[in-house]
Amino acid sequence: MDRRKFIKQSTFLSIGGLFIPSVFFSSCRKESLFEDINYDGKVIIIGAGAAGLYAAYLLKSKGIEFQLLEANTSYGGRLAKLEGFADFPIDLGAQWLHGKNSILGDLITTSNTKITLDDSSEKYWFNNQLIDTLPKDINSIFLKEENVPDVSFKDYATEQGFNTDYQYIVENIAGDSGASASSISAYWKMKEEENWVSGDDDFKFQETYFDFIDKQIASAVNDKIILNTVVKKIDYSQDGISVTDTNNTTYLADKVIVTVPISILKSNDIQFVPILPTEKTNAFSKIGMGAGMKVFLKFSSKFFDENIIGGPVCAAYADESIGKLTNENMLLAFIMGDQAEYLTGLGSNVAITNALLQELDLMYGGQATASFISSHVQNWTTNPYVKGAYSYSTVGMGDARKIAAQSVNKKLYFAGEAMNINGHHQTVHGAVETGYREVIKILNDIVK
Ligand SMILES: Cc1cc2nc3c(=O)[nH]c(=O)nc-3n(C[C@H](O)[C@H](O)[C@H](O)COP(=O)(O)OP(=O)(O)OC[C@H]3O[C@@H](n4cnc5c(N)ncnc54)[C@H](O)[C@@H]3O)c2cc1C
Repeated sequence: MDRRKFIKQSTFLSIGGLFIPSVFFSSCRKESLFEDINYDGKVIIIGAGAAGLYAAYLLKSKGIEFQLLEANTSYGGRLAKLEGFADFPIDLGAQWLHGKNSILGDLITTSNTKITLDDSSEKYWFNNQLIDTLPKDINSIFLKEENVPDVSFKDYATEQGFNTDYQYIVENIAGDSGASASSISAYWKMKEEENWVSGDDDFKFQETYFDFIDKQIASAVNDKIILNTVVKKIDYSQDGISVTDTNNTTYLADKVIVTVPISILKSNDIQFVPILPTEKTNAFSKIGMGAGMKVFLKFSSKFFDENIIGGPVCAAYADESIGKLTNENMLLAFIMGDQAEYLTGLGSNVAITNALLQELDLMYGGQATASFISSHVQNWTTNPYVKGAYSYSTVGMGDARKIAAQSVNKKLYFAGEAMNINGHHQTVHGAVETGYREVIKILNDIVK
């Protein structure tokens, strides 16, 4: 990806044992504002993924009362780990740190968390062969930065000379953004890439991404997380806000930070009273969220390459053992958009696994089935509290993310990866940035 170099690095201050980025203070109107804050109101955070956990972490550092309501049986959201399937813990959701120049990059440095650069090589499945280099460099599509039309990435790629031979190579690029090439906007994808400032390199955690967030952020606030609490209604019609879950338990707050995935907001799983401004709900509907799954395939031999791009069933396979302390041969099938929908439609994990093995057999002369041991399917689309992979930008979406992220009546605040307006949506560090931004907004609103 054509990601820009880093602009500004924050430094950290230690407050009550929590590491808080100094930019958290310096970016605010008055530094003393946040040093002396004295607020006896309560904040409820809905959703204990990266955004919610980081907002909680900051509220704790300010001594502000808060609670985190989480629908699932565990916290972390789209960060989760699987133990026992391999001789190393596996990231079921987010896995790569995309660039170190972010709040999380700084926290990795201060906490001495072990990460490894992933500079693995790629092979392409092109015209029924595995090749090292494509006849036409697919990355040239990112070189043209002006006059990119607001059409689908698929149409744009065709216009740039990438014919049907490149169909699944193009799908791989869209899949990186959690979408199918026919759904994502070429214009907005390029525009958002321009805003990307966290760095171009990808890193893997020696443990898991979940462990890092758990140890460095969640552990400071997990006594405030109420699990198995599916919020169904937020009534902000009165002075105070009442939040009701599906057991009809009500929680009271002065301010609410909503961090649920955009898919949950789009499908009206949470009722707002009064209803949210139409401009805002229209903005939600313009933000895309496609299907997504990860399948981990364990083999007795390492017959596969480090990355295999362009399969019609799965456009992106990656050697899962890279950067890990392991003796196992594990291949990740990273499946997004239409491909994830197709595999979900097969109806069983066995059928999904067989479809992938068949494709790998074709690529590697039957070696996949011959050395297959077992698989684990993690389908994020069927998780009722996520319902997909991550947000992507649709054709004609305009300022939708900005509008979606606006707070309402100084009572409702919106965070989560889809609400990131700096090009870092779709990522953990981008989600964290929105938790940070909304806490700043709350602090500003408190003192106004
Ligand atoms: C397969 C996959 C691979 C990914 N790979 C990477 C990667 O390598 N690197 C990277 O940076 N990012 C990656 N991402 C994206 C990253 O995981 C997300 O951007 C980030 O974790 C989102 O955090 P969040 O807090 O915005 O949302 P979430 O993590 O989704 O948190 C929202 C929380 O809200 C809860 N919730 C939903 N509805 C309700 C309700 N009604 N009441 C209460 N709680 C509710 C959910 O259970 C969830 O815990 C990946 C995502 C997926 C799915």
